[in-house]
Amino acid sequence: MLEKVVIANRGEIALRILRACHALGIRTVAVHSTVDRNLKHVAMADESVCIGPAPSAESYLNMPAIIAAAEVTDAQAIHPGYGFLSENADFAERVEQSGFVFIGPKADTIRLMGDKVEAIRAMKAAGVPCVPGSGGPLGDDAATNVKIAAEIGYPVIVKAAGGGGGRGMRVVHTEAALVNAIATTKQEAKAAFGNDMVYMEKFLENPRHVEIQVLADGQGSAIHLGERDCSMQRRHQKVVEEAPAPGITDAQRAEIGKVCVEACLRIGYRGAGTFEFLYENGRFYFIEMNTRIQVEHPVTELVTGIDLVREQLLIAAGHRLSIKQSDVVLNGHAIECRINAEDPDNFFPCPGLIQHFHAPGGPGVRVDSHIYEGYRVPPNYDSMIGKLIVHGADRAQAIARMRVALSEMVVDGIKTNIPLQQRILADGGFTQGGQNIHYLEKRLAERKEKALSLL
Ligand code: ADP
Repeated sequence: MLEKVVIANRGEIALRILRACHALGIRTVAVHSTVDRNLKHVAMADESVCIGPAPSAESYLNMPAIIAAAEVTDAQAIHPGYGFLSENADFAERVEQSGFVFIGPKADTIRLMGDKVEAIRAMKAAGVPCVPGSGGPLGDDAATNVKIAAEIGYPVIVKAAGGGGGRGMRVVHTEAALVNAIATTKQEAKAAFGNDMVYMEKFLENPRHVEIQVLADGQGSAIHLGERDCSMQRRHQKVVEEAPAPGITDAQRAEIGKVCVEACLRIGYRGAGTFEFLYENGRFYFIEMNTRIQVEHPVTELVTGIDLVREQLLIAAGHRLSIKQSDVVLNGHAIECRINAEDPDNFFPCPGLIQHFHAPGGPGVRVDSHIYEGYRVPPNYDSMIGKLIVHGADRAQAIARMRVALSEMVVDGIKTNIPLQQRILADGGFTQGGQNIHYLEKRLAERKEKALSLL
């Protein structure tokens, strides 16, 4: 087993990793920026190292500082969490070259999946269904690009090969707009990602976001843990996630899950990963693979009973997967609400001092959060301050439990999106289930209009 792990992240996921380590008897090293000395997991870790000032570029993205922290504490492995360096192939490589275990896939796998054109090519070759598209980068010849778009059929979406976080994409509805749109997306991609390669896909108009969780040991075994529905999004950011996805049948799950497992084996995948799909008219279309643990992993944990971070640690320690596909049985329904320090109406971040905090509880309620009374949310990082996750025998019970849990949760001193989450959980369309990725924004726009008309 690993003996000591550096947790190269902050906030709730750092605490989540710490808990999984301690449950396995692994000692932990917290690395933190100067404004993060008071993070909960820093107090709970066996050791802690300050790796730099508040800006992420100088701390949580500072590769030499993090590797040095592993060296001085004599740790064996580094867990990157999500965000920050978790999908940085160069970091994974440098960690391994320095003699430490990177808790994640091999650097080459991360690199492959980070280039969306290459990722789609590899997935297609592995039999994963993809969105109809250019099948490769777009060249500079306008006539060829016009022809590609005509073959795909409008609307199309032009996407940056190196894009991420919902940036570097442009929807094009007509041939007249195509050439300019490609040029602009290329320029933006160059500026934002240092790579002007773009590709084209059919723009699906009303898809849902359904993703498949996988675990692979890199030694010939892989399994899938079913799907999550993450269609409740605002600006491509997930707000509520659930498992299983409403309306997906056992047969559909088994079929797409098998495709993902086979793809993992084919590319020699190692660790936890997620295949993200758009789902429309009963069909799955691969968009990208996330080569790390995801924010929404707890809903899968609650319906499968499998601790994903524990499995990541065991795989990193060289263990073979001990769970067989037939051991994975979905039980009930789970929902996660992301809790953000932000204004529930205009979504502006609201960092500051938490004066009172009461966590909800009761059967099937889980709170993954690093906040406590007297904790000051710094303005420097993502506004998510925790996740509220519930489990029920079925979706109706999970919704009922989430409504109660949200009403119990008190975070005083700063604004949070709890009122927004309460409105979502009370919404008829959400209760019905199976809404598409535009649903939440549409409802928010309607609400804004209504409020304006009352003035
Ligand atoms: P990123 O890595 O930036 O998150 P993705 O490829 O995962 O980029 O796409 C992000 C989001 O953009 C998707 O969840 C979806 O909302 C939208 N999107 C991407 N590709 C398409 C497409 N072909 N049709 C419709 N929407 C798309």
